Amino acid sequence: MHRVGFTTTIPIEVLIAAGRKPVDLNNVFITGGRSSQLVEEAEMEGFPRNVCGWIKGIYAAIRESGIRELIAVTEGDCSYTKALMEVISLEGIQVIPFAYPHDRDSESLRFEIEKLMRHFAVEWEGVNRAKERLDRIRRKIREIDRLTWQENLVSGEENHYYQVSASDMNGDPDRFEAEVDAFLLQTTARHPYEELIRIAYIGVPTIFEGFYPFLETLGARVVFNETQRQFAMPYETADLIEQYRAYTYPYDIFHRLADILTETERRKVDGVIHYVQSFCFRQIEDLIVRKKLNLPVLTLEGDKPAPLDARTRIRLEGFVEMLQERGNASFPQSLR
Ligand code: SF4
Repeated sequence: MHRVGFTTTIPIEVLIAAGRKPVDLNNVFITGGRSSQLVEEAEMEGFPRNVCGWIKGIYAAIRESGIRELIAVTEGDCSYTKALMEVISLEGIQVIPFAYPHDRDSESLRFEIEKLMRHFAVEWEGVNRAKERLDRIRRKIREIDRLTWQENLVSGEENHYYQVSASDMNGDPDRFEAEVDAFLLQTTARHPYEELIRIAYIGVPTIFEGFYPFLETLGARVVFNETQRQFAMPYETADLIEQYRAYTYPYDIFHRLADILTETERRKVDGVIHYVQSFCFRQIEDLIVRKKLNLPVLTLEGDKPAPLDARTRIRLEGFVEMLQERGNASFPQSLR
């Protein structure tokens, strides 16, 4: 099946309707087992050291995967994407731009989605059929998320994995659905976690290896993975345009914050870990996050794919200890 890569979540319903195999290059980069080498390869090709590790990893993953067609999100994702598109097109890869309108305007979003549909020669009927098929899987992923925070049966890493994989359904919706079904069945035999501290993870997915299991050794568990949950389209919407308007990640921080505030309260979170990526423009948003969240916030920064370093482990230990001492901490507190 013809593969189409993309640099962040896009309306994959269009690709499914067109009979293409969706490939989220972030997932290829981080789960392929060669993430550090991919970053090094990009640097060898000339990518500067002070460019985000995800961009370098995505670039090398595109080359390695042999993908010849790529959808690049030019608005609503990453300030580096336009330059990445230019470098990639030099290699003869076809690049299709897609933009999320900054003001979340329905008509502009419809225009972008229909442009994509024209490129792949599909009609609304097929796209809506694909949405119904994917929504069935997304509902099951929502159940995994509920089992994480409400029944305490799912680890932070499992929660991360199933939600982040929904961005491309691991390239094969039917196989992915079977995997989700088997996991849900497995949770029925589990005993609930009894950790003391409940953590919200916000920001882009971490480039660190072993982040979630380490937190669990400290007696803390992530019960809310903010952006990963967004990639899994957490809101039930009948209309595709509305679905990608409700999706918070490509829009401004205030749209994201409304979701973060609702979910941290609903999930009885004790503290927030805001992950930021070195050299990412989104780091600036940390200022707003800290002003608006009425919970203790630890800001963690990662650069290249690697196991948690000693300094980060110590900071996590300090943060969890502080939360344990405060019990159910409910007033503003920041650690840097
Ligand atoms: S972490 Fe930031 S700079 Fe890196 S790819 Fe994502 S949005 Fe771009």
